[in-house]
Amino acid sequence: MLTRASQTIPQESYRVANQEKAQSLKPGLSTLSVHAGEERQKPINSITDPIVCASTYTFQNTQAIIDYIDQKQDRGEYGRYGNPSEQVVERKLAALEGAEQAILYSSGMAALVGLLTAKLSAGDEVVFFDECYHRSRQFCTQHLSRFGVITRTVRTGDYQAMESAINQNTKLLISESPTNPHLSIVDLDRFAEIGKRNRVDTLIDATLATPFNVRPIEYGVDFVLHSATKYFGGHNDLLAGVISGSDQKLADVRDLRGILGSVNSPHNIYLLERGLKTFELRMQRHNENGQHVAEFLESHPAISKVLYPGLPSHRDHRLASKTMKGFGGLITFELADADWQKTARVVDNVRIARIAPSLGGVESLIEQPLVMSYFNYPSSERVKFGITDNMIRLSCGIENPEDLIDDLSQALRSASRT
Ligand SMILES: *Cc1c(COP(=O)(O)O)cnc(C)c1O
Repeated sequence: MLTRASQTIPQESYRVANQEKAQSLKPGLSTLSVHAGEERQKPINSITDPIVCASTYTFQNTQAIIDYIDQKQDRGEYGRYGNPSEQVVERKLAALEGAEQAILYSSGMAALVGLLTAKLSAGDEVVFFDECYHRSRQFCTQHLSRFGVITRTVRTGDYQAMESAINQNTKLLISESPTNPHLSIVDLDRFAEIGKRNRVDTLIDATLATPFNVRPIEYGVDFVLHSATKYFGGHNDLLAGVISGSDQKLADVRDLRGILGSVNSPHNIYLLERGLKTFELRMQRHNENGQHVAEFLESHPAISKVLYPGLPSHRDHRLASKTMKGFGGLITFELADADWQKTARVVDNVRIARIAPSLGGVESLIEQPLVMSYFNYPSSERVKFGITDNMIRLSCGIENPEDLIDDLSQALRSASRT
């Protein structure tokens, strides 16, 4: 059984006369997303991995159980500890991330909870950059706090403040990059270096970038988290999450997942594996659409501000250009002279993008963060998190960019008429 990402590339496809040349051949992301992690010849000679609907795995007799335990055999035992196609997808995701190992969870939040609960004990501290997914912050401040874990938050991009927040109890530094919805970019060199120098592990939630656009492991970041619900699944039809990192640092995380039970159904895993096959193609289009639509919005008189790392006007554009291949499909923008109701009219007038939370799927999605995520928050909180009344978040899907632009154009026009 092939178990390591690097060993799971179908060898025959790369058989080159010169062995050295073969070793230096690094498959591209599409080759990896189609083939990595899979057996070349699968059960019943099927080209696709089977959906193994088994909650448990049988043993021939008592001796077989004893052999399994004594010899640490690689086989199924019980569904909560793993599923054969889950292992395939985990190897594929590790190969895409350039990590030794990946652990799959039932959602991005389950992945975060799985990592934090494995790594943090009472008295430990964790430091966050403040622009982060509000549920991640909520889990720490409302729930980990009940178990004696202390959460410190510093302004995104303030590396000195992050360093000052570290003390001998600090176990983990956490950031997203890009952040949501402000799309700030973290200097991964600096972030990883602060962690290394202080002997504190680092975690980057790279959901918005994906390994197509940014590769945190190459900068020395210890853990990379993705909501696979977004670009990895890519079709707005599943929830999943993944943590990648080294075998050594993930051993306790995997053990705890077997206890937490936040695993995927075999059908869900199949959808994720299928979605991953087109990962690179989709990302190319998301990047193109994001860039085109962001440029269109920035040039539009009804728009006062566009946050997109691919625009030279973005605060982190230089850093983004240096560290990212593309800038993804997510764009945040603000309407000129608009209250929240007028902003809502633009959202309501859009015909292609669907109104929904989430991002990263083939269908474009649009939402007003004030209404979708912060409606019941006091306005002081909204201001603190940088959520304005006239803000719209658009996740560009893979539709044709000219259609998305025409549609936004008519939505802005009709909203200003009413
Ligand atoms: C969606 C999202 C999450 C949470 O993932 P789920 O799969 O919804 O649990 C975490 N981080 C970021 C950046 C996200 O966009």
